[in-house]
Amino acid sequence: MEVDKGGGTEFGFFTSRLDKMIGWARKFSVFQYPFITACCGMEYMSVACAHYDIDRFGAGLPRFSPRQADVLFVVGTISQKIAPVLLTVYEQMCSPKWVVAFGVCTCTGGFYDDYATVRGIDHVLPVDIYIPGCPPRPETVLNGLIMLQEKIQNQKQEV
Ligand code: SF4
Repeated sequence: MEVDKGGGTEFGFFTSRLDKMIGWARKFSVFQYPFITACCGMEYMSVACAHYDIDRFGAGLPRFSPRQADVLFVVGTISQKIAPVLLTVYEQMCSPKWVVAFGVCTCTGGFYDDYATVRGIDHVLPVDIYIPGCPPRPETVLNGLIMLQEKIQNQKQEV
């Protein structure tokens, strides 16, 4: 079989088109696992309500098993004690997978400047999208979701 070395062969054209097609399909079938620990959970639920219609982004169905999810939504303050549990959930998800930090507590630890709080979940696992705010408004969350979809669409696809 001909190997594509980036020289613009027909085979290369085919694989890049296939990548785009898979990316397009994946970005509209986001199955999220909500890892909710604190007050940001209220705003997460309001995004899921009919008014913001998250279904139009193909992200309306949360999964409560990490093995059935591909996007980990980390929502709320993460303590040092719960961090290993969060990492276990992440490791149980199949690839490809993505992580969203929802709210300033997950992004940086927020105003919790103490020994018990993780100062940003990127100390525990890789983060794809940061959504700031305390709590973030639903419009900000939807904006973060659109950014995640763009990332999914444009990355090299694992098959
Ligand atoms: S960012 Fe604000 S609303 Fe969200 S968990 Fe932290 S303190 Fe609560």
